Amino acid sequence: MTNTNFSSWLDDMNLAHPLVIAGPCSAETEEQVLKIAHQLKETDTTVFRAGVWKPRTRPGNFEGHGVRALPWIAKVKEETGLLTTIEVANAEHAKLALEFDVDIIWIGARTTVNPFAIQELADALRGTEKIVLVKNPVNPDLALWLGGIERLHKAGIKNLGAIHRGFSSYKKTKFRNNPQWQIPIDLKNRFPSLPLICDPSHICGEREGIFDVCQVALDLKFDGLMIETHYDPDNAWSDAKQQITPQRLQEITEDLRVRKDRVEEKDAQKKLQKLRDEINILDKHLIELLSERMDVVEKIGQVKKEGNVAILQRTRWREVIKKMLELGEENDLSADFIEKIFKAIHQESIQHQENIFNS
Ligand code: PEP
Ligand code: MN
Repeated sequence: MTNTNFSSWLDDMNLAHPLVIAGPCSAETEEQVLKIAHQLKETDTTVFRAGVWKPRTRPGNFEGHGVRALPWIAKVKEETGLLTTIEVANAEHAKLALEFDVDIIWIGARTTVNPFAIQELADALRGTEKIVLVKNPVNPDLALWLGGIERLHKAGIKNLGAIHRGFSSYKKTKFRNNPQWQIPIDLKNRFPSLPLICDPSHICGEREGIFDVCQVALDLKFDGLMIETHYDPDNAWSDAKQQITPQRLQEITEDLRVRKDRVEEKDAQKKLQKLRDEINILDKHLIELLSERMDVVEKIGQVKKEGNVAILQRTRWREVIKKMLELGEENDLSADFIEKIFKAIHQESIQHQENIFNS
């Protein structure tokens, strides 16, 4: 993908801050939609969001008003001048979104997982000048996310962007949807011109963590934020726990620190260079140490081969990881990080020993 005009659109907007998309999880009533939009007009918000068709995990919950709510969204633009965005999940939704002249169309996480659904949307939106934002799939699969964006791009849709809303995991974590930041970073590395928006609301699943997730996103050079906002969050018809008021949204956007691309002052530049040199030396040590470790691993492999002993020794591995977790904690390294690193090292070690066995 060579270009996405959404990034030039963002440049032309000349915003003093990242793009802010805000509004309720669901369009509940005409009054609710308009009241929130008017309150957001007084904040840094540029785009008003509201779910019109709501993908609910279990049946029996509010599933959105559908087409009935589209005139309310049109009224938001008319009365406040805010741009508007809604979620579409099938060709009929897409057709209606275009008919009602919604400015930005977003594709939800539950749709991105399904190549049939994405292709249906790509065909329905073929050649549109509208901005289309693709949320990551619910599962941590970069290829599905890339594939969705590629299908839309192939259908001649040039104004593309991506929304990071975290990934669901069976294991309970402090997030509703784990951010796994490496995945959007990998996406950006594949499509450097693709703007990235972060949705801290669906990542956190509760209000408290929203500021911190926004700050991480900005530190990682995300281009915008999509934040669920309601004048009465506790009584929202969907996602009540994670919505914030327009007033709180404004506090958050004012308190966020927007990092510059480069350090400008000469002194700071020098300091940074010195620290980076230190990092380069440390990284080199890390590789040398890992290589030394593999030499020992291969020697162990040789002994195992001669003694006809299996490569994988589970009790030994459990001992290693237990000790490393303790050491990690003493050294302020998270258990998650230690586990990941040592699993990778262990995997590589097994590979080296297999080579010895096969030689
Ligand atoms: C939403 O933005 O309201 C929504 C349904 O999000 P997701 O597709 O990320 O679950
Ligand atoms: Mn929601």
